[in-house]
Amino acid sequence: MPTYEYRCRKCGASFEINESVAQHEDAQHRCPNCQSTEVESLLSDFYARTSKKS
Ligand SMILES: [Zn+2]
Repeated sequence: MPTYEYRCRKCGASFEINESVAQHEDAQHRCPNCQSTEVESLLSDFYARTSKKS
């Protein structure tokens, strides 16, 4: 199972979650520090998303 790294947009905390690819696509993760759901993946889909925006 791959490890995905996330960062919270609210408090800036980063954390890792072990999950399958299917779980990664569906999951709505919560920051373990502030409980915000505004977390972003630090892996490839994060870069794809940001490069599309700008
Ligand atoms: Zn947070």
